[in-house]
Amino acid sequence: MKLNDSYDRVGRNECSKCSLRAAVFFRKYSGEKLCKDCFSNSILHKTSKTITKYNMIKRNNNVAVAVSGGKDSLVLLHILNEISQKLDFNIKAITIDEGIKGYREEALKIAREFCKQLNIEHHIYSYKELFKLTLDDALDLRKSKMSSCSICGTLRRRALDIAAKDINYDIIATAHNLDDQIQTFIINMISGNINKIGFMCPDSTTKIKPFSEIYESEIVFFAYINKIPFQSEPCPHMNEGIRTQIREFVNVLEKEHSGIKNNLLQSILKLANRTKQLSDQEKKICKTCKNLCSNDICSVCNMISRITKT
Ligand code: SF4
Ligand SMILES: [Zn+2]
Ligand SMILES: [Zn+2]
Repeated sequence: MKLNDSYDRVGRNECSKCSLRAAVFFRKYSGEKLCKDCFSNSILHKTSKTITKYNMIKRNNNVAVAVSGGKDSLVLLHILNEISQKLDFNIKAITIDEGIKGYREEALKIAREFCKQLNIEHHIYSYKELFKLTLDDALDLRKSKMSSCSICGTLRRRALDIAAKDINYDIIATAHNLDDQIQTFIINMISGNINKIGFMCPDSTTKIKPFSEIYESEIVFFAYINKIPFQSEPCPHMNEGIRTQIREFVNVLEKEHSGIKNNLLQSILKLANRTKQLSDQEKKICKTCKNLCSNDICSVCNMISRITKT
């Protein structure tokens, strides 16, 4: 079995949790050496703890899980399926097809088959049917310097809202992990979007991120040891924005100062809590689509009109 990098350096040893099996994972920031089962249980436990800590899901809630076909979202679906019985809630899966030729097809197939295997109802919606254009069309039409990911991410947020409403599910669970949260925070700081910091509070009633306190590397390892299939081919636009550089920079810091990502997240959450009230005060109703936003016109309506304007 392939071991995680940190573990390689400390050598083979028994699990520090159960003392029964050989450890396969070294969690450097906590000093734990974990076997396959104890590692998997720790991820399940951490996800349940995040859900209950922020009161993300209540009994009998209907949770639409956003499943892209990538590792994080399939692991999220797998774990929510496991804990839905204990916490007593319902789940259905939603996949958004952005319309990226040569990339999305494989992910759709993996998502479809995985939902079938878990016996979870699966719904697919596309940008084409919702916004009358694929992401490829939008990128061809864009006139200003909007990045592929900012167009795609904005459209996806709205697509998920529409999809969840369409299946009568009121909570949307996404697989954003701790690394994603840190990257988003830094991007908001760089672009001066400080009013968005308050929106990063994990206590939203309809948009939840059960992996928000889990390292990306641990989700990858969970997918690997639990043999969860996922699309390994990255999106062709993945490295166009600044996010990849921020990810690499934070990973270098973590390597030298283990646990720094956890510390960063705690600071972000404190800041988000303090600015939440200000962000809430700035909430308005979009004049075009009537959704909540921070300007007269929401970012989705604004973006669609910028793209489609001739
Ligand atoms: S990497 Fe960017 S363009 Fe590709 S699917 Fe993700 S958000 Fe969309
Ligand atoms: Zn163990
Ligand atoms: Zn709008």
